[in-house]
Order: sequence, then C-alpha cells, then structure tokens
Amino acid sequence: MTELMESVELCNECGVCLQVCPTYNATQDDNFSPIARIKVAGRILQGGEITPQMVESVYSCLECRLCTEACPFSIDIANIVWHSRLKLRKRGIESPEPHKKLVESTQRLGNAVNGDPARRLDWLPEEFPSRESSTLLYVGCASAYVTKDAAASSYLLLKKLGVDFMILKDEGCCGVIYGDAARDDLLREIAEENVNKFKKLGIKKIILVCPACYYCFKYLYPQLLGSVDFELVHIVQLLPSLLKERGIKIAQVVGEVTYHDPCRLARPDGIFDEPREVLCLSGIKVNELPENREDAPCCGAGAGVRMVCRDLSLKVASKVLDQVTVSPLVTACPFCEFSFSYIAHKRGSDKKVVYITEPVLQALS
Ligand code: SF4
Ligand code: SF4
Repeated sequence: MTELMESVELCNECGVCLQVCPTYNATQDDNFSPIARIKVAGRILQGGEITPQMVESVYSCLECRLCTEACPFSIDIANIVWHSRLKLRKRGIESPEPHKKLVESTQRLGNAVNGDPARRLDWLPEEFPSRESSTLLYVGCASAYVTKDAAASSYLLLKKLGVDFMILKDEGCCGVIYGDAARDDLLREIAEENVNKFKKLGIKKIILVCPACYYCFKYLYPQLLGSVDFELVHIVQLLPSLLKERGIKIAQVVGEVTYHDPCRLARPDGIFDEPREVLCLSGIKVNELPENREDAPCCGAGAGVRMVCRDLSLKVASKVLDQVTVSPLVTACPFCEFSFSYIAHKRGSDKKVVYITEPVLQALS
C-alpha cells in the first residue's frame, strides 16, 4: 500500500495527462480525469469517506495507460485504479451492478460474454483435432463467441504455417472480468484452475489471440500466484519470424488497411513492430491513425467500462472510427474488433473492422 501511496503523492496536478485521457476528453468532466482518479485513490487507500461519485470515477477508468505515457513521473494510474477497486470491495463497496451480473454469468457459464458453453467451439472450422502439444492456442471468450473470425483465422493461419499446437475442448475464461470487477478471490481461483490444467497437460508455451487474456496471464496471475512457468506470446509476436523462416514475403501490394494498436499490447509491452511487419510481409500496406504505437487510442471497452458507462465507451470508440480514412481497420484484439464494429454498425458506417490474422490469411491463400 505504501508503494501505491508514494505513486499517488508523486502527482503535482500538472495536467499533462488531461490532454490524452479518453474519458476526460469525451466528457470534459473532472470526475472522469486521471487527476480525480489519483485523488480518489488516495482517499480510498487511506480509508477516507467515499461518495458514489468517487466510485464512478474509479469504475469509469479504461486502464488504457495513456496517462502513464504522458505523465512526467510515469505514474501508473491504471494500477492505482485497480488496487483502489480492490480496496473499495474490501471496504464493503462492491463493483457496479452490470459487473456483478457478468461475474455471476461467468461463474455459471464459464465465459465472460454470456455464451452458451455447448457452443464454445462453434468457431472451429473443422472437427476438433485430438492433437497433443506443449504449445497451446488459447483463443479466449471474445473470439470464441463474438468475433469468431479472430479465432478461426488465427487457428487456420498457424496450421498453414505448420505450427505444432493444440487447442482445448474445455477452454474456460482467463478471469480478466473478475479482475475488472475487483473479485480477486475469484480471479485467484480461476488462475489456479487454469495454471493446474496447463501443468497437467504439459503446456510450456501459450499463444494468445486476445490481449486481455495475455495481460491477465502475464500481469495478474503472477500478482496472485507469485509466478507462472509457461511462455506467453500474443500471436502477432510469432508471425513475422514464422513468415520469414518459411520464406514468405509478398512483394506486390495486395491490399491496404489502417492498423490500430490495442492498449494491452501497446502499453506497457510496446508490441508495435510485429503486427506492422506481418502485414507488410503479407503484401498489405499499413496506414496509420493520427495517434499510434505508444500513443494509440483506446477502443473504449477496457477494464469493463463498456458495461458500466456504455455511452462514454461508445463515444470513445466513435472518435477513433472517425479518424479511419482507409478501411478496413485492422486490430490485434477481439474486444477492440467488437467495439469498433459495433459503433460502425450503429452509425451505419461502411467502414469494416477485422482481426489481424484475417487479411494475413487471405493474402497467403
Ligand atoms: S501528468 Fe502525472 S503528475 Fe501531471 S497531473 Fe497527470 S498524473 Fe499528475
Ligand atoms: S488509464 Fe486511461 S482512462 Fe484511466 S485515467 Fe489514464 S488515460 Fe484516463
């Protein structure tokens, strides 16, 4: 707690982060600003009196880390916010109702998107392969149920490139929603369950389709379990070397896209070059958004905000969509794909949004 309070106390309210915070920019409301969140966190962590407005401030943070990039002291507000949510719950102030409902359905259904467990493998473009491997492709709830093209094209692309991997018939949720809803007790349970399952199967390496699962395995599991002993890679990190090893480089331009860096890959991991390189090797010209790489905009769905502040989330997504001049918008996150596709559909826009492995697979076919 002391370390967190030290970070809180570093803030001199210089206001630099206000320029980049998507929730503040969308609302111009101080309660939705990084400064308010830091002040509220200080109060929560020190046991001060809490108002509903303060709870809203903490639960409307996208945990996108744009503020940290801008802050002269690199204050990790997303981490402070997460610990404030945990502390609030310990003080008897639960997460907002939509989070509680999703926690309940995730426990009941084993996925975070209200999907029918019997249909978890509907995305699979062939019979379930009873193949064993020490490498696991973990597709995650969003791409298994919602943006199924992300799961299917990732699976087919890895097969096409001759990667030895397996998938799970009983893949469950990574538990990131429990983290968003401050249910670290449930997150710990599911983390133990998943880690034991991977151990029993002899999994040494996990390829992730979803940056939220990647973040959860990489950063949240070790906070709760101490460490995890398997290698984690997001699929975009693997693809450039795979293509190069197989001598694949399409010289002519076969298409063009706009690339969007998902928050969970951009910050703090800095995974920028790999997705651009794989598109380039596949003959796809990459156009950039006005802000990209470490400054890339958030899709508005991070940290469970889409459930508790729907209008705010849509406003944030809408602003990004407006900046896309070359369609399709390509992203390496199934949640971002859903978030941008939803707003495009809602606004009657003809801009398309696709998961990165989709155009790469097409180019290589
Ligand atoms: S940029 Fe950093 S120091 Fe300045 S107000 Fe924001 S959090 Fe505080
Ligand atoms: S993490 Fe994102 S939404 Fe939260 S305060 Fe920082 S910039 Fe704003």
